[in-house]
Formats: sequence, structure tokens, C-alpha cells
Amino acid sequence: MVERTRFNIPISRPQLGVEEEEAVLAVLRSGQITQGERVAAFEAAFAAYHGAEYAIATSNGTTALSTVIMAHGIGAGDEVIIPSFSFFATASSVSFTGAVPVFADIDPKTFNLSPEAVEAAITPRTAAIMPVHLYGQPADMSALEAIARKHGLILLEDAAQAHGAKIGERSVGTWGTASFSFYATKNMTTTEGGMILTNDAEIARKARIIRNQGMDQQYEHVLMGFNLRMTNLTAAIGLVQLDKLPQWTAKRRENAALYDTALTSVETPYVQPGVTHVYHQYTVRVKPGIDRDVAVKQLNGNGIGVRTYYPKPIHRQPVYAREERYARLDLPETERAVREVFSLPVHPGLSSEELEFIIDEVNALC
Ligand SMILES: *Cc1c(COP(=O)(O)O)cnc(C)c1O
Repeated sequence: MVERTRFNIPISRPQLGVEEEEAVLAVLRSGQITQGERVAAFEAAFAAYHGAEYAIATSNGTTALSTVIMAHGIGAGDEVIIPSFSFFATASSVSFTGAVPVFADIDPKTFNLSPEAVEAAITPRTAAIMPVHLYGQPADMSALEAIARKHGLILLEDAAQAHGAKIGERSVGTWGTASFSFYATKNMTTTEGGMILTNDAEIARKARIIRNQGMDQQYEHVLMGFNLRMTNLTAAIGLVQLDKLPQWTAKRRENAALYDTALTSVETPYVQPGVTHVYHQYTVRVKPGIDRDVAVKQLNGNGIGVRTYYPKPIHRQPVYAREERYARLDLPETERAVREVFSLPVHPGLSSEELEFIIDEVNALC
């Protein structure tokens, strides 16, 4: 008989229950299936949850990012400082508007944008700084806010991985205009979906116009816009998911705390004092002498869906690397993280048997 692994544990597992099913059915039966009342209700609930004034739902996290950049009037001739150690959309959403992504290196402890590296990357063309709250840990917003103020720059947030993360009592998404994603693997999902948060009424107004064909009233197109709308069908899922988010975040943090104490063979995540990390990913560094790719292969072979986020810096992706300015860019901490990190399943669907198995297998690495 063939020997079989006891587990098959994915890196993420969307939590969808009977409440989501009922919410979707209610929308289908209402006939009001496109952007409407459910979307407005989801926007209000999401803004309230984060303590932001305005929320604008979009078709996905990438379109939320691009809409934010356009709503701030950033485009051709402007530069936006972002990390290269992130998902591609952090950069592509900038490029799509005609603006130029300028990549700054990360802090090796938090994996988030290094404020010193950001300041060094500022040029006369810099329009904005857009940190990513990577893996669910808030970036150093007070330092970045001070830099933005000092240089007269716009502060944005890519909060796609950080629903409900906080610095002290203040939620991410309230420092600068922020974008969230509700893709199936995120801390909460609407299948596909995105959300913008802002405290600026004028930015909110422009974002709504850009989202809906550039119209400020029916068939009056005042800005260049597109169809970037969310539907009532997916917003209904989002409303249910938002209700469940606090308990899921608590479970993610519980799983992370267990890993923190139990894992001996890897460097566990550093958490900035005073922040609430929401563990979109639980990302570890291999210890010196351990080959990350070998470790990942071994764990995958044992049914544990560990993954590398991200296996290549964005500026080394072919679409960027063919440009001279990116080809010669050197971001040593980004390159080191790309070689040394991997992420363990930390989602709220993990059973205690699965958690125990993961801990034993990771500790067996050395
Ligand atoms: C997921 C993600 C996005 C893009 O969101 P989509 O909803 O997939 O378009 C952008 N930035 C980061 C950091 C992400 O993790």
C-alpha cells in the first residue's frame, strides 16, 4: 500500500457559511443585483469598523488602488514611492495611471517600508508615499506621516492584507487614503472586491465618479472613469464576512501566538510594540544555513501548503526589469527577504490537530 500523508492543509481557506448563502439568495430574489443598497450598506459598515469617514466599494483591490491614485490627481510625470517586496498590484496600479513606481527598501524586522529608505527615494517628482501593511502588520505610519508632511507629499495605504489592523487604537486606512482587497484568500472575502477608505470628502466624491464611468450625474462625464463597481451580490457576502471578521482575527492572532511559542527552527515574526497584527500571513525567516526552497519543498511534500510571499521583488519582474532604472536598482533587504522567508497557514479554519502537525513538521526542519 502507498504511504499517504495525513493532512492536506491549504495556505488559505475561505470561510463561507449558511449566512453568506442566505445573503446571496436574498439579493438574487430581490432582483437588485448590481451596485445598490447592499453596496451602500457594506461601505457604511466597513467605514464604521475602521473609524473612517467615507468608504467606496470597487470591483477588486487593484482597481481600488488605481482609483485612489487617480482621485488624488496623480498620473503621468509623478512618482509614487512603494515597496518592491509586495504583490505586483501595488506597483501595477501605479503604472496603470501613468505614474512611475519608485521602489524603496524594507525594514528587515517588519518587512514593511523603511522610512529612511523612503526619505532617500524622494525626488522633485515624488507625489505620494504608499506603504503596504504587509502580512497584516501596519507599516510605520507615524514616521511616514512625518516624512509626507515635511516634503508635502500625499500619504496612501495599500491595506489589502490588513483589514482591522491597528496602531494603538487607530485602524489602518485612516492615515491616508487606503485600499483594501476582498479576494478569496484575504482575511475576509466578497469573492472579488475592493474598498477605498478616506476622511477627505472631495477624494471620496472623485473616487465615486471614477468608479462609475466618470459620471457625476447620469450621462454627464466629468472625469476619465471606468466601470469599477461592486455588485449587491458580492457586497451582501462582504456584510456577513465583516460581522465575522473580529472572531476570525482573534483566531488568527491565537494561532500566531501558538506558533510564536512553539516554533524553534525558524525566526518567528517580529511585531512592532503597540500594533495589532492581523496575520494575513504568518511569515518566518529560515535560520542561517537552511535552504528556504528545500524547506518549502519538504513541508509541501508533507501536505502543508506553505508558500513564499514573494518569490521575486516587483522591480525584478520582467515587465519592470527591462527598464534601465529598475534593472540597476539595488534593494538588499528586499532581496534577502525574497530568499529567506516563507509563510505558514494561519487562517481561522485550522484545527488544533493541523496546528500541531504544522508545528512538528516545521520544527523537524533542523
Ligand atoms: C491582494 C493584494 C492586492 C490586489 O487585490 P485584488 O483584490 O487581488 O485585486 C494589492 N496589494 C496587495 C498587497 C495585495 O495583497
